[in-house]
Amino acid sequence: MIKSVTGTKDILPSDIPRWIYLEKTVENVFNNFNYKEIRTPVFEETSLFARGIGEETDIVGKEMYTFKDRSDTSLTLKPEMTAAVVRSYVEHSLGAQQSLVKLFYISPMFRQERPQAGRFRQFHQFGAEAIGSPSPLLDAEMVQMAYEILKSLGLKNLTIKINSLGTPKTRENYKKILKNYLADKKDKLSEDSRRRFETNILRIFDSKIESDQIIIKDAPKLIDHLDEESKADFEVVKNQLSKFGIPFTIDPSLVRGLDYYTKLTFEIDSGSVGAQTALCGGGRYDLLIETLGGKPTPATGFAAGIERILLACENEKSFTVPEQTINVYLIRIDNDLESVVSELAGKLRKENLSVDFDYLQRSVKAQMREANKLNAKYVLFIGGDEYKEGLLKLKNMSDGAEKILSLEKIHELISTIKK
Ligand code: AMP
Repeated sequence: MIKSVTGTKDILPSDIPRWIYLEKTVENVFNNFNYKEIRTPVFEETSLFARGIGEETDIVGKEMYTFKDRSDTSLTLKPEMTAAVVRSYVEHSLGAQQSLVKLFYISPMFRQERPQAGRFRQFHQFGAEAIGSPSPLLDAEMVQMAYEILKSLGLKNLTIKINSLGTPKTRENYKKILKNYLADKKDKLSEDSRRRFETNILRIFDSKIESDQIIIKDAPKLIDHLDEESKADFEVVKNQLSKFGIPFTIDPSLVRGLDYYTKLTFEIDSGSVGAQTALCGGGRYDLLIETLGGKPTPATGFAAGIERILLACENEKSFTVPEQTINVYLIRIDNDLESVVSELAGKLRKENLSVDFDYLQRSVKAQMREANKLNAKYVLFIGGDEYKEGLLKLKNMSDGAEKILSLEKIHELISTIKK
């Protein structure tokens, strides 16, 4: 038997109502903040992600699904959305029509990570990107939106961590300070971190290896070496979050895996999902648009993992979805009425009613069982003496009340079912 690929998951019909509930909640909050949806292709040229995410990151170095197509072009299934959104923003000059462009997305992503609970190879993210303003109020808005979505889904066990990475100049200065600090500890670092010491020293903070983390824990902190502008912006974000009543802590080690971040970075974690606690991460990326060939343009955004959020929701029982129902199930009493039943179903479906009936020549009792299984609000019996007189029996499944209706007066039938 062929099975689904390791790290991928079917979203079965029984899971779908929870996905739809989440998607509607997400769309609703983004709509309230005036973000417009964007959809980009599932694959892009590999160089987009290599440039946009950074060669030294785990994503680009180890996790991308990269392949050559038949014309020998290197393509990559999107591992994250920001680079793709920015590519689209630059390609279509979206900034020419509007100086601040506010976008959101819901999309599958692909990373060849080691699968475990809450970590998949195809997973889904929703997120937002606001391109065109350096305002720290917009950074605060990102945290606010992400938090609001998670709260609207009923989640409680949340913690928000924020940090500032400063401007590129701050980071250059800080890299020197970090290099000084790590110089005599370099030999104790892991092989990956030793390489990053030379190529992109900040990435050492991404290391999940314990011995690296011990060394890094006491390193000088970027947040203590911020320039005045970054400091002032960070103050605005903190004040604004307090005004929104959003609790947060400052986590100086929150450097995030992507190279294009500047100033604010944030992460929202859940205590309800096991080892992979991060539900959402984001921040400002003022350097990315020019890196990808656009004019220098400030931007900020976040991405959140849907599978993990749904897991947290399930563990906290944070929301319930209404049971799936249909309006009416047609029960055929006489076997020779199959085509009559199918024709009637067609008429009712045209009236925007959800209707089903038996295609398996089952007994009346079995059809009744099916109606119950489908949570039908009504069943309609077709056949017997009543049918010969042009009548049908409609039964309300919630209170058992029965009504005899004429086949001629189909509108009466429809309006009764719709009530
Ligand atoms: P990132 O784009 O790495 O900042 O991730 C943003 C969010 O996406 C994370 O906080 C997770 O919730 C989710 N996420 C990232 N990678 C995976 C994965 N491999 N499987 C499931 N969710 C993921």
